[in-house]
Amino acid sequence: MLGPVILAASRSDKMRRFVSAAPGTKQVVDRFIAGETVDQVIPIVKDAAAKGLEVTLDVVGEDITTVEQSHAARDAYLELIGRLKELGLGERAEMSVKLSMFGQALEGGHELALANVRPVVEAAAAIGTTVTLDAEDHTTLDSMFAIHEELRKDFPQTGCVIQAYLFRTEDDARRLAAAGSRVRIVKGAYKEPASVAHQDKAEIDKAFVRIVRILMAGEGYPMIGSHDPRLIAITQELARQAGRKLDEYEFQMLYGIRSEEHVRLAAEGHRMRVYTAYGTDWYGYFMRRLAEKPANLLFFARSILTK
Ligand code: FAD
Repeated sequence: MLGPVILAASRSDKMRRFVSAAPGTKQVVDRFIAGETVDQVIPIVKDAAAKGLEVTLDVVGEDITTVEQSHAARDAYLELIGRLKELGLGERAEMSVKLSMFGQALEGGHELALANVRPVVEAAAAIGTTVTLDAEDHTTLDSMFAIHEELRKDFPQTGCVIQAYLFRTEDDARRLAAAGSRVRIVKGAYKEPASVAHQDKAEIDKAFVRIVRILMAGEGYPMIGSHDPRLIAITQELARQAGRKLDEYEFQMLYGIRSEEHVRLAAEGHRMRVYTAYGTDWYGYFMRRLAEKPANLLFFARSILTK
């Protein structure tokens, strides 16, 4: 019940101002956001590498309103890639991007987002790594998939995300499960209407399993983005049935969530990638994390009230 209310609040400027200014917010935000600057996130990449983990780095900030901000988003990723190159961390860290941050929702946004993301994908490829296009709300996905297809002509390793809660996703999975593709499957984190998405958790889980089965049977590289122990166990079994070796798919989890599980799966020989978000414009990302688990909201409310 609370999830949709929090997701609605994630679109409200009034709530954004309230939450950002509330005492106690920072303490809770720090659990999910790895830092504000590149300098703060680099030690986290090194620490993950020391634990046998890989990362995908996300510079937060989807709610932009000007072309200049979309250029700043591109430049923030280019700065990050430059630092990874200097430090020789390129092969350890991938990038995750939200096309909204690259201007997708502005006028002429499809072309603008493509023009902004291309140099990032190019720079990532030059240091031996790659970029995955995150999936946002369902109205943005045709554009995201078209940009993904365009980028893959020159950079076939570019990944994309599909969301199990959407009715369309099994078809998308079949189309994407081709040789050389990299596809992250997640449950889905946005507030979607019943006309396009399953609303029931059990239905979403069942769809997730059907989609993992499609990806495992295909020729691409499945990336399983979930903290759900049951779905992780089912994925392991489906990978085994499909005859996949441990390096022919990977698990991904979010920074700050079930961290002991990151290390456990890596120790079992799985490739485990931690989605590590950083930056100053953390509001939308943070609110989706609150919506996923009501206990987070209670913790958040308590930390505000006790400050
Ligand atoms: P759940 O059933 O939600 O959670 C299983 C268990 O994990 C919970 O019981 C709890 O113990 C723990 N858990 C899960 N979430 C939280 C939380 N916020 N706080 C504390 N504990 C938690 N969604 C998109 O729509 N687009 C994307 O591009 C996208 N990229 C993602 C990338 C990665 C690597 C991951 C892991 C998730 C991504 N998501 C994305 C979010 C995803 O859609 C889900 O909202 C999120 O992963 C929660 O679903 P779950 O599979 O972990 O299962």
